[in-house]
Order: sequence, then structure tokens, then C-alpha cells
Amino acid sequence: MAYKATQDPRTDIRERSYVPELLRGLAITTKHFFRNLFGTRDTNTEVVDRKGTSLVTTVSYPEEKPVYPPGYRGLHRLVPREDGKPRCVACYMCATICPAQCIYIEAGEYAPESEESQSRVIEKYPTQFVIDELRCIVCGLCVEACPKDAIRMDTYEHTKPEYNRQGFVFDIPKLLKGPPVSHPSDPWNKRESSQEPHHAHKEAHTRIGEGLVQLKTPHSVGAGHEPPTLPSGEASEPRLPAPK
Ligand code: SF4
Ligand code: SF4
Repeated sequence: MAYKATQDPRTDIRERSYVPELLRGLAITTKHFFRNLFGTRDTNTEVVDRKGTSLVTTVSYPEEKPVYPPGYRGLHRLVPREDGKPRCVACYMCATICPAQCIYIEAGEYAPESEESQSRVIEKYPTQFVIDELRCIVCGLCVEACPKDAIRMDTYEHTKPEYNRQGFVFDIPKLLKGPPVSHPSDPWNKRESSQEPHHAHKEAHTRIGEGLVQLKTPHSVGAGHEPPTLPSGEASEPRLPAPK
């Protein structure tokens, strides 16, 4: 419902001149100013790295930080392997699922003759991995989609303030941080006692067409049923009825 401003002419001159209200507002502001200047800290406010004594509850970020709840999704980080390289295998799943389209990846390949066995077994890696933190809506879908546990939002950090937009575009040197992560299922963690399988390794697509492939038709199902054959000389196309 629309609000109607009162046009009541009975409002006295004191209110219509605004001067007393103006002075009252100034008095309140001055009172808070001196209280904050000489008062003591508001001990109920949970703020990390709080500096000085003040009753101000406003957090002077980034010098002061609030305590984040346990489920808070912090700034992204690219998770490093034990050797300091990113766990990311440049599969593009995070970039594909990102609803804000703020992840940009370029993939490169490790050289087959690479001396590092860790690099040989995973083949691909990101030559570029960029997240535009200004466009990110902090939904966490990239973390959920990653099959290699290569991207996490466990830094408990807010995006730091910057003076220009380019500062919010995080690349690999900015993203790659935090403790390294290793899983037993990582391909480079194969045990020394692992043995080669007895069969020769073949790529899946090369197995198509191998062996005798018998397609089952409705006529061939069941023992002793042969596909029906047409009498010799009979055309296989259906015949049209003769014109009357
Ligand atoms: S948190 Fe969401 S919006 Fe941000 S990069 Fe990940 S998928 Fe994209
Ligand atoms: S961070 Fe994970 S999902 Fe994204 S490209 Fe790398 S491996 Fe794939």
C-alpha cells in the first residue's frame, strides 16, 4: 500500500524548521564519536586481530576479521601435490559446471619422456587456471564437481580488497597454496608391489568389434530358430496389391 506523506498544517514551526532535530542528530553523532574514541572495546564482538579499544562493532576488514562459521566457503585454492604441483588434471569439469562461468582453463600435456613419474601418469595439467573472484557466487559447485580433489574452498579467507578489477582475477600462482593433499588412489601412489595385469592393456575404443559379435534378432532368440529365408527367386521388397 502506498504511503501518503502527511500534509498536516498543524505541525509546529519547531518541527518544520528542522533546526532542533538537526541539533539532536548532531548530539547523538558526537556522543558516539567520543564514546568510541575514549570508551572500551565491545567484548561481545568476536573479531579476530582486533586492534585498539573501541565500542565500534564495525569490522575494519581486512585488518580485523570476523570469525567465520564452520561451514563457511572461503576463497578458492588449487590443492598442491606433495611435489608442489597442482593436483588438477585440466579436465574442465569445474569450468563446465560453474554457473557464473568464471573459471578459465587451458590444458597442457606432460612430455611422455618426462623424468617425473608423477607427471607421466597423469598426462594433462593446467597451463592456465584462472578464476574471476568478482563473478564467483561462492556456490561451491566447482569443488563438488572436481574428480581429483584439486580445488577446495577451505581457506576461511574473504577475497581481499583490491584497487582494480584485474586484482580479483586469480591465476595459478595466487591459487596454488595450502597444505598438499595425497590420496591412496592417486595414480602416482601405486604400490611398489603392484603387478601388471595378465591381459595386454588396450584402449577401450580399440576393443570395439573384437571377437564374434552376434546380434540378436527376434527370430534368432531361442535354440533351433534360424532367421526365415525367402523362397528362391522371391523379391525381398513387400509387394503392392494388384490394381483392380
Ligand atoms: S564457487 Fe561456484 S561460481 Fe564460484 S567458481 Fe566455483 S562453481 Fe563457479
Ligand atoms: S580443478 Fe578439478 S574439476 Fe577443475 S579442471 Fe582441475 S581436475 Fe578438473
